[in-house]
Amino acid sequence: MERINVIGMNLEELRRLMQSLGEADYRADQLFNWIYKKRIETFYQMSNFSLLLRRKITSLADIGRLQLARLTSSPSKTTQKFLFELDDGHFIESVYMKDRERITLCISSQVGCPLNCAFCATGKMGFVRNLSVGELVEQVIFIQRYLNIDATNIVFMGMGEPFLNYDNVLDACDIISHENGIAIGKRKITISTAGVVPRIKQFIEENRKYKLAISLNAADNETRSRLMPINERYPLPQLMQVARDYQSRTKARLTFEYVLIKGVNDRIADARKLKDLLTGFQCKLNIIPYNSIDNEFSAPVEQSINAFIQPFLAMNIVISVRRSKGSDIQAACGQLYAATLKP
Ligand code: SAH
Repeated sequence: MERINVIGMNLEELRRLMQSLGEADYRADQLFNWIYKKRIETFYQMSNFSLLLRRKITSLADIGRLQLARLTSSPSKTTQKFLFELDDGHFIESVYMKDRERITLCISSQVGCPLNCAFCATGKMGFVRNLSVGELVEQVIFIQRYLNIDATNIVFMGMGEPFLNYDNVLDACDIISHENGIAIGKRKITISTAGVVPRIKQFIEENRKYKLAISLNAADNETRSRLMPINERYPLPQLMQVARDYQSRTKARLTFEYVLIKGVNDRIADARKLKDLLTGFQCKLNIIPYNSIDNEFSAPVEQSINAFIQPFLAMNIVISVRRSKGSDIQAACGQLYAATLKP
């Protein structure tokens, strides 16, 4: 019989597991707390379970499946990149980032990615498969346990497109935010999408409380199509329409990301177009200077970054330039690539 992995199971599923063992429902709540909050490594640590029950669970279930294949740290250890091997031999990466009191974990949603954005390393790998709920949640559990820290923020900005793995990503978020477990608030969990319009609509319909970020990366349709093939499928006007819907329906502040690439989308004219596009939004604009992955594109010079942000300073939006952490260990935005890495 195939072994069960309790990491990734929600309360309902743990209840069914406990029922199958002839146990009462409250045992499932206890188990949930042990695995997600107390971060046990073996079921024998569950001191409020009888020894017999601990033995029974041990015989049929595991607590997680990820293998740490490699850990790369920046000199100050404020950025650390985890390479995990999955149980079918594929690899994913997750990134730990510490900035004073804020500890952010950047989580992967897929092995590879089918979207093939021109500037992104993950896209070069092609698409392998979606991650399971267990693999999504365990990235958080593993790093918290390994570094003995409590993350304050989760961002789905690692490898993959979270909205092409919608159900698993949302199920994982529901576990990560559950107050009897990891308990990271819904507003501290950000899902970043390249613009899968039907799934953004679904996200709005379902009234999900997680934060949404949209990777815009260009302010006109042609440039966006050149950089992001998904724009052919869901063109910029459609994407902006659903973004407006999101804003009017949820009243939550949307984040737009914009990878700034030298000579491609970093000119004053681009900034003006972007300004027009964002007029009427109460949003955050996250400017991400391009992190080099090959010779096709270059990072913008400091001067053009400063010039680019000028038109936005007078607007009713929060603008930030994401000075990339982790570029020295290839852990910055868009640099995650774990296809052929064999430790
Ligand atoms: N697929 C999702 C999440 C993964 S990428 C999405 O597209 O949003 C997370 C962010 O990193 C996106 O905003 C993406 O545009 C950006 N990014 C990708 N490659 C990059 C690179 N080489 N340099 C800087 N940012 C990059």
